[in-house]
Amino acid sequence: MHPSSSSRYGRFRFDAGSLALNFVATVRHRGSRPRDLLSSPEGLVRWFGLAAPHIAVSAVSAGDHEKALLLREAVHRTFRSLIRNEPPDPRDVDLVNEWASHPPSHPRIETPSLEVRWVCADPVGSVLSEIARDAVTIAGSGARSRLKMCDSESCRMLFLDNSPPNRRRWCAMSICGNREKIRSFRSRKKESERKGPSSEGK
Ligand SMILES: [Zn+2]
Repeated sequence: MHPSSSSRYGRFRFDAGSLALNFVATVRHRGSRPRDLLSSPEGLVRWFGLAAPHIAVSAVSAGDHEKALLLREAVHRTFRSLIRNEPPDPRDVDLVNEWASHPPSHPRIETPSLEVRWVCADPVGSVLSEIARDAVTIAGSGARSRLKMCDSESCRMLFLDNSPPNRRRWCAMSICGNREKIRSFRSRKKESERKGPSSEGK
């Protein structure tokens, strides 16, 4: 892969609007050439460290890695169905509900330092639980109407539109919005060049 494209699409995105949506966004360019940034357990450890720094996850087993990706894709399909006003697959919803019922971590204040420590029996499971709880909250609340899919055919990232008018079309104006603006400007220019000056005014 070309180094510049690798760095451009190799970055995690944390601007999807919520934990569950950021997790789903770890597959970049779902609309064209999907690139899974969590294809290895190490990638998942890195993402956990950035997305849920309060929970120390130092390693992920192959089994937990597989479970995490199954949850991620179930959340993706569920949200995508909601965006399309279609009923989500009950198997996906069941999996999300199951993870949401998993015990999450809880904060504990230490004495005498008064530092907060997050306690959990199963670090990976507790992060997946937080992701699933977030997904359940979005799917079952008014936030559902703010779920969007990026208009860029190649990107198709899911995001929460928190803008007051709720009319966002792009995952980010600075990424897909600008690219689309340039593309439509170029195609308009080409079109006017093709028609040529003689066609003007006709
Ligand atoms: Zn996009």
